[in-house]
Amino acid sequence: MIGKKRWSGIRWKIVFIYFLLVFIATTIIGVFIMSQLEAYYKNSIRNNMSDLVLESTLLSSFTEYDDLMSYQERIQSNVVNWSKGIQQEIFVVDDDFTIIASNNEKLVLKSAVKLLDHSIILSGFNGEIAEADGIVQQQNKDLPVKNMVFPIGEKDDIKGVLYLREDMTSVYDTIDQSKIIFVRAMVIALIITVVLGFFIARSITVPINDVTEKAEKMARGDFSQEVSVKSDDEIGRLAEMFNLLRKQLNQTLSEISNEKSKLETILQYMADGLIAIDLSGHIIHANPAAMEMLNIAEEDKVNKHYDDTIRDYNENLTFDKLRDNCKDGGAADIFTYSGSIFAVRYDRFKDENAQDVGIIMILQDITERQKLENMQMDFVANVSHELKTPLTTIKSYTETLICGQVDDKETSNQFLQIIDVEADRMNRLVKDLLQLSRLDYKQENWNKKESNLISLLKSVVAKVEMTAKQKNQHLNCIFDDSKKVMSMIDRDGIEQVLMNILTNAIKYTQEGGRIDIDALHAGKNALIIVTDNGIGIPEKELSRVFERFFRVDKARSRAMGGTGLGLAISKQIVEEHNGSIELDSKEGRGTRVTISLPLSHIRGKRNIE
Ligand code: ADP
Repeated sequence: MIGKKRWSGIRWKIVFIYFLLVFIATTIIGVFIMSQLEAYYKNSIRNNMSDLVLESTLLSSFTEYDDLMSYQERIQSNVVNWSKGIQQEIFVVDDDFTIIASNNEKLVLKSAVKLLDHSIILSGFNGEIAEADGIVQQQNKDLPVKNMVFPIGEKDDIKGVLYLREDMTSVYDTIDQSKIIFVRAMVIALIITVVLGFFIARSITVPINDVTEKAEKMARGDFSQEVSVKSDDEIGRLAEMFNLLRKQLNQTLSEISNEKSKLETILQYMADGLIAIDLSGHIIHANPAAMEMLNIAEEDKVNKHYDDTIRDYNENLTFDKLRDNCKDGGAADIFTYSGSIFAVRYDRFKDENAQDVGIIMILQDITERQKLENMQMDFVANVSHELKTPLTTIKSYTETLICGQVDDKETSNQFLQIIDVEADRMNRLVKDLLQLSRLDYKQENWNKKESNLISLLKSVVAKVEMTAKQKNQHLNCIFDDSKKVMSMIDRDGIEQVLMNILTNAIKYTQEGGRIDIDALHAGKNALIIVTDNGIGIPEKELSRVFERFFRVDKARSRAMGGTGLGLAISKQIVEEHNGSIELDSKEGRGTRVTISLPLSHIRGKRNIE
């Protein structure tokens, strides 16, 4: 194909046009020169013959004879004498068309009709000097000749004609020779033309081919091609323009590609899901967030019909509904899918001619936000409720006392004690709330020091021992109290956590129950494990025990003086120490709380001794 291209290319067209032009020009010149040369030779032969006759006295010598035939011999000797040294044949023809004298003696007294050109003899008898080219047969060869006649006598008294014939073979030979020379020159000129034409065409086509090749590479996406500008002419301008075009195209493309990659990165990493759907309802793009939100598999990402992907979640979000809903601008909706809540906003997108191309959807996972809002609302409701209960009790008992309805001292003391207990509960609640708020806003001042968790645990056990004893519970300290488990802690904070865990264990374990308390090390962490065989927590509630105000049995907890904030506060305090707290439980069988805290790095010493 390339070969065909080369032969039909502009280079060969130029060479062919050059060749044709030079061929036509040289042919015209050749034909013109040859015809001029022939005319020149013929003319000079005619002038020669004419001068020969007219400048001699031969012709005038014949006019004195009345009858040429009567003086035939004299005329013949005259002619023979006169023609000595000339190359032409001379004939004197009388009015009977008889050759009465000639330097070709064989033809004397023969009829001129067959031997000479009859038509110019007649012209001669009409008083004209006439001429004509002719052919004479000699030794079986056709010889080209020039014939010329001169009338003898005055116009009205023509006695005969003088007929001259000259062989023109040499003239035609010269002309033929000239033609051969000219054709040779023409062939050489044409060869030179083809060679020169080739180089000239090459000088034009090479830069054009260069531009074409580089344009082809550019079309394949290689923009590093630069055409060298070698001349200041049109081709130079073409190369210059090509380079400019390449530069601008490259710049524009790199801008577009930058924008594209920027957009792709944004889409890739944006937390919101994005789905683009074409007008036929097929997904043309879905970013990773959208794919995760809607559980779209990689193979379904493109060219899957949108309805097959999301329709089941919200019947108001089928493709037809989407199209109708955003007829007059963007629309929004909410749907729930596999436990998450999604806010969806969508609108049509258009091409450069403002024609609809499809629909773009933005999906936002609002589960957390919704949860937070719910939590906030729950929190306010819980706080109000928790405060309202003791307040109502206090209010009713004080009113009863104020009204003086209680006479005996014992009852009024009982009332006052209840008021005191409720005021304490309110106080604890407010204290816990304030502490939570400080923890939330990171305002708690931690005084972290290297401390022995075992000694801390021992002191907390000592503080709750009495309460456990009252319930006949056995506090079983498994840990070896002679050893040290060192951790960088705020003693008060961790004491509050241990206190809460142990009091919970005591609170939620029936009389005569058993509570195991252990402290050990696991890798880089210290573990404090409190296990009771109490009432336990139902499995479905287990995940919620660290929520604020969450209590499995509200009435029971409240009766036991709990606020429902203990575990939430404990979790936050432990996390502030880069630790963790876990709670395992089986309803009716007991609960195990594991607190993990990072061990201190004591150089050269084992942490647990
Ligand atoms: P409370 O002041 O009610 O004890 P907490 O935040 O300390 O609040 O505990 C939250 C809830 O978790 C409790 O109301 C109780 O239902 C449950 N709980 C905590 N510890 C235990 C445990 N050792 N055994 C059974 N239930 C427990």
